[in-house]
Amino acid sequence: MSMDEHGESSPHDAKAIGEKQAPRVLIGRCHEIVLKGGNRWRFVDQLKHNLRGVFADIGIGRVRAEGPRIIAELPADASDDLVRERAALLFGLQNFTISRPAPLEMEALKREAIAAARAHPARSFRVATRRAEKRFPLNSMEIDREVGGAVAAALGLKVDLENPDLTITIEILPHGAYLAAGKHPGAGGLPVGVTGRGTVLLSGGIDSPVAAYRMMRRGMKLDFVHFHSHPLVSTASREKACDLAAHLTRYQMRATLALVPFADAQREIVARARRPLRVVLYRRMMLRIASALARRAGSSALVTGESLGQVASQTLENMTVIEQAAALPILRPLIGMDKNEIIAEARKLGTFETSILPDQDCCSLFVPDHPETRARLVAVAEEEAAFDVDAIVASAVARAELVRYEFPPRAQRVG
Ligand code: ATP
Ligand code: MG
Repeated sequence: MSMDEHGESSPHDAKAIGEKQAPRVLIGRCHEIVLKGGNRWRFVDQLKHNLRGVFADIGIGRVRAEGPRIIAELPADASDDLVRERAALLFGLQNFTISRPAPLEMEALKREAIAAARAHPARSFRVATRRAEKRFPLNSMEIDREVGGAVAAALGLKVDLENPDLTITIEILPHGAYLAAGKHPGAGGLPVGVTGRGTVLLSGGIDSPVAAYRMMRRGMKLDFVHFHSHPLVSTASREKACDLAAHLTRYQMRATLALVPFADAQREIVARARRPLRVVLYRRMMLRIASALARRAGSSALVTGESLGQVASQTLENMTVIEQAAALPILRPLIGMDKNEIIAEARKLGTFETSILPDQDCCSLFVPDHPETRARLVAVAEEEAAFDVDAIVASAVARAELVRYEFPPRAQRVG
């Protein structure tokens, strides 16, 4: 889409077309602290890239950074609701507005503020101005007061500085002003991609999607790995993992899910190892396979949804023995959270309903009534000596099925 199609109209045009308003822009605000120092450009470039990605099917115009703001020109046919929904997926934004440009002069600001308030029914309002261009003759409080007065007089609305129905946001930048009705909370965190690449073990349960979300929010780009025991059990856990991966992909635009057949590894473990150690052995095998897949994908860490003490495999002793099978560091963003906190996050994230659908997780197969809670590495190593660990890992890796996800879905893309 060419820029000219969505170019800003000049003040002269705006007057000529009367009520018709200038094209909208999305203004995202970043956390100023993280923008300091040498990481600034990486952060901003990644955010610009991600912003283009999340709007790939809509085709936005020019995107530029200005101080802690990122400003993107929006096409006329994208609804505010759609823009809001997409912008809310962008990690790295503290908040955002859907704004309209206005010339740097008071009469234009008043006119635009009245138009914005008229389009958003409210009984009370306030004006909140930020003046990054200090040469503008009025300071932000004076602008608030004058523009607020004009809106109140024109529409009979009440000014409420504490708890208004509507906040009209004005930004005074060097090349022009921007005005918006309402400011929306951003997703926070860091843009996906700035802190590296990780591989998350995605079980289909409640915890691991939340763990994935937390690491993406810290700027990690993730690959997903799911172990399933088909044909020993139904494909339910696989389907859940696919749905969860698709949902999580909205935050990073592209992702790959590896569906790893785990039934053979389990049969081996069940046939050769002592009962109480089965779960610990399953988990060690999963970490070896996940490490191999992660290395192949260029990931430098594994991510799990473990939380200390939640189940028998998550005692400190067992986690210590399990993690020694991993070839990469393990990140456990939920380690200090309790189940209710994790459930609350899963609900907010929108994964809870999928996670609680019935399935049979591969780790619940053939598990003993009294699993070992204090496994010792020597004992575990003795059990593992009975089978060909490398062959099991190589076979699982070779048979992993890769499913690719894209958001927005490719069929909708333009260009
Ligand atoms: P979740 O709700 O994520 O399933 P959980 O409370 O059921 O977690 P466990 O089943 O002990 O806990 O799993 C701990 C972690 O191990 C999971 O959060 C996940 O990262 C990983 N994991 C467990 N099972 C699988 C699986 N079948 N495929 C991929 N990863 C798994
Ligand atoms: Mg589980």
